[in-house]
Amino acid sequence: MSTTYAYAATDATAPLAPFEIQRRELRAHDVQMEVLFCGVCHSDLHQARNEWKNTVFPVVPGHEIVGRVTAVGPDVTKYKAGDLVGVGCLVDSCRTCASCEEGLEQYCENGFVGTYNGVDRVDGQITYGGYSTQLVVDEAFTLRVPENLDPAGVAPLLCAGITTYSPLRTWGAGPGKKVGIVGLGGLGHMGVKLARAMGAHVVLFTTSPSKIEDAKRLGAHEVVISKNAEEMGAHANSFDFILNTVAAQHDLNPFLNLLKRDGTMTLVGAPEHDHPSPQVFNLIFQRRRLAGSLIGGIAETQEMLDFCGEHGITSDIEVIPMQGINDAFERMLKSDVKYRFVVDLDSLRK
Ligand code: NAP
Ligand code: ZN
Ligand code: ZN
Repeated sequence: MSTTYAYAATDATAPLAPFEIQRRELRAHDVQMEVLFCGVCHSDLHQARNEWKNTVFPVVPGHEIVGRVTAVGPDVTKYKAGDLVGVGCLVDSCRTCASCEEGLEQYCENGFVGTYNGVDRVDGQITYGGYSTQLVVDEAFTLRVPENLDPAGVAPLLCAGITTYSPLRTWGAGPGKKVGIVGLGGLGHMGVKLARAMGAHVVLFTTSPSKIEDAKRLGAHEVVISKNAEEMGAHANSFDFILNTVAAQHDLNPFLNLLKRDGTMTLVGAPEHDHPSPQVFNLIFQRRRLAGSLIGGIAETQEMLDFCGEHGITSDIEVIPMQGINDAFERMLKSDVKYRFVVDLDSLRK
């Protein structure tokens, strides 16, 4: 066992505070890493405040992790001490069901093991995430980080990156396709960068007029203020695909109206309260689809990291010490994130 410094929430209303945990002894296929950076996902806030009603307290959030390997178990073949590695939202799954066999571990029919707030399949312990100085993860759920990218800017790729990459690939974002991204936060800004790199025509929808210039710099061809009905109307019936990353309940109809016949809007935002049901006629008259998507599998996450390595893509970040996490949560609630907070775990080692 190795003593690890962490930050945890002890109940839904408590601010995150210092907490000590023990990481397990290495199993045969385990990789131990020193956590260098961990991104701050809106899901961390949802979980710390029990907005999804399934949090086991105390919870140590964090699933956008970049670390340096410090030791490996005897049967590890993929990694050695000194390697730069990443861990996302998943640390295990059953590995035998149809979804796991297809490399879609996030849809494991026996339940995937989350990086935090999950239950370890071997010892039954609750998992603790990357707001901590060390991590122990099976090599099968550990990713290789391209060495040409800034490791702090890579951290958010492990959730925000793959959660946008996977649906963009699934629904065919690419040359000749008009793709909308709704919300310019952590997920949304990665969606803009990735859709642009895939060759799509990219339109960003925001509620924040102050983000227009940034959206263009990040790769959007056009920016629409989603509260402006006239600007929205100009894009009616024109989108092949819309990726909705908004973290709060809102009316979906104004976006569904922008889809072409057979177009799809996919929800990745996971708000505390469900959106009101959209108008059925808006769907049936144009054979439009409303879909959802959950992160991505391990193989696709590696594909996304390699794609980002080739295209020089990282997240736009604001690095914070672990001690600044509660302020970061408050700013995230005000949509005041440019465009991902990343915790430097050296701040906990001092
Ligand atoms: P974030 O950085 O807080 O960004 C969310 C963005 O949504 C904001 O920047 C804002 O963009 C927009 N927004 C916020 N409140 C709004 C409101 N009331 N009305 C309209 N727009 C609003 O959050 P994130 O980390 O990107 O996460 C986004 C959501 O995805 C969260 O619910 C998170 O839990 C979920 N998530 C899902 C998955 C998955 O696998 N499906 C994975 C990771 C995260 P503008 O200022 O541009 O309007
Ligand atoms: Zn996340
Ligand atoms: Zn499975």
